[in-house]
Amino acid sequence: MAIQVTLISHTPDPLRSLYMAYRTCYSQLTPQQVLKRIDDERIDRETMREFIEERLKTGHASPLEQIVFEFGISGVSRAFSHQFVRHRVGISFEQQSQRYVTYRGGEFPYTVPETVKRAGLEERMDELFDRVGDLYEEMVAAGVPAEDARFLLPNATNTNFKITVNFQSLLHICDLRLCTRAQWEFRKVAALLRAEVMKVTPELGRYLQPKCGEHRLGYCDESEKDWEACPIGRVRPHKQVLFRIYDQYRRGELQPLRDEDWAAIEEQELAGG
Ligand SMILES: Cc1cc2nc3c(=O)[nH]c(=O)nc-3n(C[C@H](O)[C@H](O)[C@H](O)COP(=O)(O)OP(=O)(O)OC[C@H]3O[C@@H](n4cnc5c(N)ncnc54)[C@H](O)[C@@H]3O)c2cc1C
Repeated sequence: MAIQVTLISHTPDPLRSLYMAYRTCYSQLTPQQVLKRIDDERIDRETMREFIEERLKTGHASPLEQIVFEFGISGVSRAFSHQFVRHRVGISFEQQSQRYVTYRGGEFPYTVPETVKRAGLEERMDELFDRVGDLYEEMVAAGVPAEDARFLLPNATNTNFKITVNFQSLLHICDLRLCTRAQWEFRKVAALLRAEVMKVTPELGRYLQPKCGEHRLGYCDESEKDWEACPIGRVRPHKQVLFRIYDQYRRGELQPLRDEDWAAIEEQELAGG
């Protein structure tokens, strides 16, 4: 079963709502007056976007909680859902129940990871799960309630969600789960969440990045070993590297450009010209 993520609903005009939330903090105008200026186009969308962009460079994050998105998420594994529901703040989950839903005929949908397929072990997994399904059916037929028969079911079993998440929480989830250190399935879901938000509000969607993204921390705060192994590590500094450069700067040890550096620059200019 393929993963599907669908944006069901959202704050009607996220840019306008976020602008009003921030503007109310920093203006003598009432929110009603701000709204009037937006409605009669004295404040245009570019002005709102630029104002929000400046606020997002600061740590003033609570206005982001006023923007909400509702998603339907289907075809994800229980291995994923265990991780997903660990997020505690700014997100509400409803998840398909294995107590109230009985898999008819012992047929439960599940996910086979690509690594298992590449290892040539998909068939073995299918065989095992067929037997699990048979025993599940036998248990249900014997009067075992679904809530107990489910003890047989694997982490691979698919599940579905309806969630509501605010923008602050979505940023945090993407910070962590678009990072290459996150599990592949969560990275995929986070990328699909982002893609859905991009369709309706690209001005805000572009901030949904891994935490090292240029709109987020801008550097990696994972271990240096993980940073070295990360494909994005080539274009993002590690925080220790930044601290080392800063320490060198404070001690006056930053290497000045050398003659050969200038020569290299000039050579490049000549080659380019
Ligand atoms: C790469 C990776 C590996 C992981 N490995 C493991 C693992 O091996 N084992 C494991 O058990 N979990 C693991 N986790 C899950 C992790 O421990 C968290 O449960 C998960 O990231 C959700 O919690 P959160 O604080 O990030 O986000 P949320 O729960 O969504 O919280 C959002 C923000 O609010 C803050 N917050 C929330 N509640 C409180 C509170 N009570 N007091 C103060 N601040 C609060 C958080 O610090 C965070 O900044 C892993 C996560 C990642 C991304």
